[in-house]
Amino acid sequence: MTGRSKKIGITTTVPLEPFLAADVIPVDLNNVFVSGSGANEKVEEAQVRGFPRNICTWIKGIYTASREVDGVVGVVRGDCSNTESLLSTLEREGKSVHPFSYPFVRERELLEEEISNLCSYLGTTIEKSGEMAPEVRRLRDMALELDEIAWKEGGIHARDVHLALVSTSDMNSDPDGWERDVRALIDGPRDPSLSTGGPRLGFIGVPPIISDLFPKLEGLGASVVFFEVQRQFAMPERTGDWVRDYLEYTYPYDIGRRVKDIREQSEKRRVDGIIHYVQSFCHRQIDDIIFRKELGLPVLTLEGNLPGPLDERSLIRLEAFLDVLEGGP
Ligand code: SF4
Repeated sequence: MTGRSKKIGITTTVPLEPFLAADVIPVDLNNVFVSGSGANEKVEEAQVRGFPRNICTWIKGIYTASREVDGVVGVVRGDCSNTESLLSTLEREGKSVHPFSYPFVRERELLEEEISNLCSYLGTTIEKSGEMAPEVRRLRDMALELDEIAWKEGGIHARDVHLALVSTSDMNSDPDGWERDVRALIDGPRDPSLSTGGPRLGFIGVPPIISDLFPKLEGLGASVVFFEVQRQFAMPERTGDWVRDYLEYTYPYDIGRRVKDIREQSEKRRVDGIIHYVQSFCHRQIDDIIFRKELGLPVLTLEGNLPGPLDERSLIRLEAFLDVLEGGP
């Protein structure tokens, strides 16, 4: 598959360098699903096509969003157990698909083979992809810079940090526009109305489907100073070796590395409590058992299902959690 302006959807973060090397536009289908209009209609459409009600909403949104792309690269190992069936469905409907696996055993040789296969699908090589690595690194470093300014100095809205980090998966399909937007946040004015005296929260788990979660938390006087998975999308280890960066990426591999990263960052960022966001019908909800046991911090597990604003019951639970963190009743 080759061709300028070809749009290829991705179901989560995959190596971005091959897309740039092949001059193919990456499109993170999660972002298309929730940032465009009609997110709930996309879910409904998937259900009309036969997707079960008790399957994760993200998968259904990705399915419908994939109409907007020429092909889909789906991560079938290291992200979501549903993606394999999703790709099979799309393929039977005539969509070009490519399965990508983060290897179960975190070995360079295995990952390189996966990246090479991705390169072949996109119409490039791993060598040419390596030439794009400094540019991808430079952009991801900008998102990490914004994150650092935000947790150290405050005055930047959590939603902006969340979006800058989470969109490093595809740079919003427009690296130049993405760079301008993130640069404006880094150099722009700070919002003095944002509280710095309330509880400092870490946010872990899959990105939330709740549209106003971060503004709501700020409205309650909390600061979100750590975005676990979103930060991992920006490959924060910065090893100087682009392939190795994807081996240091904690999310697709064993959970022990995630626990270590969360503990280290929580200590560094002086986190008071953790919100573990889980998606209804997601197998990753099981991880909650380990996080509660091993993080050594108060954890509130917050579940979301459909796209839309925070519901009243969850708001009350968040208020109670913040009260506890502040030593209240
Ligand atoms: S939230 Fe869970 S089930 Fe849904 S797409 Fe993500 S990993 Fe898969």
